[in-house]
Amino acid sequence: MTNPEKTISMTPPRGTRDVLPGETELWQRLESLARTTLMSAGYKEIRLPIFEQTELFKRSAGEGSDIVGKEMYTFTDKKGRSLTLRPEGTAAAARAYLNSSMGRLRPPAKLFYMGPFFRYEAVQTGRYRQFSQLGLEAFGSASPIMDAEAISVAVEFLKQAGLSEFVVQINSIGCSDCRPGYRDLLKQSLQDKLPTLCEDCQDRFERNPLRMLDCKVEADQEQFKNVPAPLDSLCAACESQWLTLTQVLTQLEIPFAVNKRLVRGLDYYTRTVFEVVSQDKRLGANSTVAAGGRYDNLIESLGGPATPAVGWGLGLDRLITLLEQETTTNVDVYVVSTKLDVALQIATTLRQAGISADLDFPAAGISSRSMTKQLQQANKLGCPLVVIVGEDELAAGEVTLKDMRLRKQEQVSPEDNQSRVSLRDLPNKVKEVL
Ligand code: ATP
Ligand code: MG
Repeated sequence: MTNPEKTISMTPPRGTRDVLPGETELWQRLESLARTTLMSAGYKEIRLPIFEQTELFKRSAGEGSDIVGKEMYTFTDKKGRSLTLRPEGTAAAARAYLNSSMGRLRPPAKLFYMGPFFRYEAVQTGRYRQFSQLGLEAFGSASPIMDAEAISVAVEFLKQAGLSEFVVQINSIGCSDCRPGYRDLLKQSLQDKLPTLCEDCQDRFERNPLRMLDCKVEADQEQFKNVPAPLDSLCAACESQWLTLTQVLTQLEIPFAVNKRLVRGLDYYTRTVFEVVSQDKRLGANSTVAAGGRYDNLIESLGGPATPAVGWGLGLDRLITLLEQETTTNVDVYVVSTKLDVALQIATTLRQAGISADLDFPAAGISSRSMTKQLQQANKLGCPLVVIVGEDELAAGEVTLKDMRLRKQEQVSPEDNQSRVSLRDLPNKVKEVL
């Protein structure tokens, strides 16, 4: 039985956050910028379920990945099905691609999505248990020019969002032809060091040695400094893919740096992998804003036809932390009146004409606060225009329109920044002045 005396904590669950007005404006700006940037490059939005069969993530990200091994929010529904809150987007996008007719259309299918993702992680700045990603996936092209496009679209979005000081780290981790040879080389060079490495790496040594390079333990990273790099063991096809990619990125003037140690934490990556890393110190160790790569074998491993693909995920929470806090945008018009119902009526008329408007609500009752208090409030909110409705004006079917922006300029007499406008003309007049 629940204890009625026990108070419920008002803080949200660990690793989740309330995004409040003041910050939501920045989210809205980024979400709409994401849509325009990606759609202008021919990507279309896909909306996917928040939970999926657990098996989907196990099969795609791989049992050995941190996500599947440690971070999933998995639950059983009332019929005993094992479901998981999505920890990432690529697997579900691939599933939806296979479940639809997208594959029959002329390739490639260029898709994007935005929304919440869930991972049970150690919470710190830039690392939450519920976080938001913008994701992009292109299915059906093996061309390295497609990799370049995917990277360039991410860079364009980040630049337009206002992020400066970042670099795109790139690497190639080879394909199913050259990876086995590289894997052997890596194992040979690490064999002696194995007992000194962390437990996870000892485990990865047999199962997926490449992922050892992604280890977060510093002492291990020291040991990996001189081991052979996948980039130096590429087959001819991967090599030519890599050369084209670096050439095209140079042509596009994308700020990139080759990072031979870069591998991604998920099993499905092939060839190109990349991360967009911010140089800003605020995110500490979590300075990777976007990450992705090519995953040519994923669709096939889910039971579909061989379909090359490339994609990335971009952490919107991390981007928000890096962007300057923006000032809240408020409504354009504040309606100030001694009669609240009239103020509401005028605000409604303005809203119907597509103009944002608000009024000053008292804590209780139907009487408005004093005109001075209401004007002070309009000023505090930074509304550019105020409509003043006094008793006598109302009788004459007129209102006073006051431009609050001019008030801030010097030598403007009170009469200069206000005019009498008939109620009928108000919406047009407001549009004119704004
Ligand atoms: P990391 O190595 O930092 O754990 P990852 O390889 O697990 O990153 P991806 O799965 O590639 O990350 O996710 C893509 C992007 O999503 C990351 O670069 C990051 O910006 C963001 N991201 C991932 N996990 C989190 C999280 N727990 N909280 C906030 N953002 C996250
Ligand atoms: Mg992670």
